[in-house]
Amino acid sequence: MEELKDVKKHLPANAEVSELKYEASDIVIYTNSEEFFLNSSDAVKKIVSKIKKRVDIRPSSKLFKDPEVAEKRIKKAIPEKAGLEDLIFQPSLGKVIIRAEKPGEIIGKKGSGLQKIRKASLWSPQVERVPAIESKIVNRARELTVEDPEFRKKFLHEVGEKIRMDKSVGDEWIRIGGLGGCRQVGRSSFLVQTEESKVLMDAGIDPSAEPGSQENYPYLDAPELNLQDLDAVILSHAHADHCSMIPYLYKMGYDGPLYCTKPTRDMMIMNTLDYIKIAHSENNRAPYDSSAIKKAVKRTITPDYGEVTDITPDMRLTLKNAGHIIGSSLVHLHVGEGLHNILYTGDYNYDKSEMLRPADTNFQRVETMITESTYGGRNDKQQPREQAQKKFLSKMKQTLNKGGKVIVPAFAVGRSQEVLGMLADELDRNYFKYNVYLDGMINDANALHTAYPEFLSKKVQRKILREEDSPFTKEQVKPVGSHNERKEAIEGGPAVIITTSGMVTGGPVMSYLQKLASDEKNCMIFVGYQAEGTLGRRIQNGADHIEVNGEKVEVNMEIATASGFSAHSDKQQIVNFCKNLRSSPNKVLTNHGEEKKCFQLASTLHKALRIDTSAPQNLDVIRLN
Ligand SMILES: [Zn+2]
Repeated sequence: MEELKDVKKHLPANAEVSELKYEASDIVIYTNSEEFFLNSSDAVKKIVSKIKKRVDIRPSSKLFKDPEVAEKRIKKAIPEKAGLEDLIFQPSLGKVIIRAEKPGEIIGKKGSGLQKIRKASLWSPQVERVPAIESKIVNRARELTVEDPEFRKKFLHEVGEKIRMDKSVGDEWIRIGGLGGCRQVGRSSFLVQTEESKVLMDAGIDPSAEPGSQENYPYLDAPELNLQDLDAVILSHAHADHCSMIPYLYKMGYDGPLYCTKPTRDMMIMNTLDYIKIAHSENNRAPYDSSAIKKAVKRTITPDYGEVTDITPDMRLTLKNAGHIIGSSLVHLHVGEGLHNILYTGDYNYDKSEMLRPADTNFQRVETMITESTYGGRNDKQQPREQAQKKFLSKMKQTLNKGGKVIVPAFAVGRSQEVLGMLADELDRNYFKYNVYLDGMINDANALHTAYPEFLSKKVQRKILREEDSPFTKEQVKPVGSHNERKEAIEGGPAVIITTSGMVTGGPVMSYLQKLASDEKNCMIFVGYQAEGTLGRRIQNGADHIEVNGEKVEVNMEIATASGFSAHSDKQQIVNFCKNLRSSPNKVLTNHGEEKKCFQLASTLHKALRIDTSAPQNLDVIRLN
C-alpha cells in the first residue's frame, strides 16, 4: 500500500485525515477539517498528477452537519427551478445524493452550486437526474442503487485492497475462453484469464433456446471457471443475451464487483426483474430470484465512458460508447504494464442513429479485438437508415389509412426508442395524428433515457433538456400499463403499437398477435433481427398460422420488414471501424453471429486488414500473447 503512504506525504498539514482508504479504484480521504474539505482542490490536483489515481475528499462524521440541519440548508441553497425531489444521506460515505429534475441548476457554473452546498452542509453532494416519466420499475431500480451504504463502503474498500495486491512474477500469459455467444447470437460470455486475474465479460441467455435448457445458458460450468475465484465481471450492455445471467453468478457464489455504466446497471435491473416475471407467468422457473439481482446491484461499480479503472492487479478497464443502446460499452482491457490490450466490442453500431452517437474508435492500443458478427456476413449490407425510415413510414401510413393497426415487435431498449424518435419527428411535422402505444417495458426504458440524456445523441439530448419537444413525453405517446389500456390499444381505432418482445418469444406482443394477427387490415413491421428458431423468424418467413397460448391463430395480417434501423454495424462498417481504430489490432476473434457469418466476417477482416482472424466456438480457449 505504498500509494496511500505517498498520498499521506503530499497532504497539507491542515488535512486532519480521519480515514484514508481505497474505495475500489479510487482513493478517498475522509477529513475532520472544514478548511481542507472546502478548499482542497489544489492539494488534490497535485496528488492526482503524482499518483495518477482519482482522489475524493469527503467529510468525516465529525464534520458534516446533522442530516436534519443539512437538509434545511441544502434546500435553501438549491434554486426552486431545479425541481428537487429527494435528498438521500449516506453518513458512512459522507455523501448526500440529491435527486432533481434539473441537475444543471444545482451544479451551477463550474460547479459553483455544488460548492455552495458543500459550504452550507459540509456534506459531499452527488446529483442525479430524476426521470421525466413515472415508472415503478425505474423507481425500484433507483432505490436499489442507494441501499445499504455501510455495506457498500466496506465492499468498495475490500475491492480496492484486492486490486492493489502484489503481482506475482511468473510468466505473463493471457488467454480467453468463449463460454457462450460463439458462432451464435445469444448467451454471450467470455472469460479472460491471466496469471493474476480471472475476469468474466457478459453473461446472457439465448432467447431462442428452450427456457431452462442447457442451450439457454452460457457454459458457466466450464472447467476453467470457478465463480468463487472470479475477480471481476464486466457487462457491455443490458440486452438479455448479454445480461440476464449476471444475477445468477451472484446466486451461485460470485461475490465481487460488476463493472458497467449507470444506464446499463439500471437497465439490467429492469431486464432481469422482468425476466423473472415472464418466467413465472409462463410457468418456467427463472434460475434466480430478486435477491440475486439485489446482490449484484450492491456490488456494481459504474465508471463513466473514458474513465480508466483498475479492476485487478494486472488489468485496467476503460468503457467507451458503443452506439448500440443507451449505456452500451466497448470494453477495453489493458493487461500488465503494456503487455496486451483487448477490445471486446459487445454489440456496437458504427453509424449515427436517432438516439446515439456512433461507436468510439479512440483507443490508444488494441492488439486483440473480439467483434460481434450479427450482420457481418459476406452479403450483409445494411440499407441506409433513410430508406428504412421511408419504408416503415409508407407501410405504416398505408395500414393506418385503411383503418388497420401496426404492430412493431421490438426489444424494450434500443429499437423501440429509435422507432419512437422517428415517429415523434413525424408527429412534430403533423404528418400523422394517430396514437402510438408502448407495451412491455418500453415505457420504463424511456423513463431511463430521460434520466441519462448525456448518454444520448446531441439532438435528443437537446430535446430532453428543452422538455417541450421530448419524444418521450408527447401527448399521443401512450404507455400501456393495465389490462384496460391494452384493450383500448387492441379495440380502439388505427394506431401504432410498439411492444416487446423483440423476437416474438413471449411478452405482451403475444396478446396482440392473438387478437390482431388474423385481420388482414393489420400489419406487423419487423425492425430488428429475428434469430433462427424464434417465432418472429417464422412469422417473418411467412408462416400462415401460429400457436399463441395454446390457441391456433391464422396469420392474415401483412408482414413487412424495414431493415436499416439496426443497432449493429454491418460488414463494411465493421471493416471501417477496425481501420479507423487509432491502433489497428493484430488479431480478431469473431463472435455473436450465426455460424457462417462469424466465419465470413473472420475471412473478410483477414483479407481487408491482413491480420490473424478466427471464429472460435464455445468452450475454445485461445492464448493471446
Ligand atoms: Zn445488444
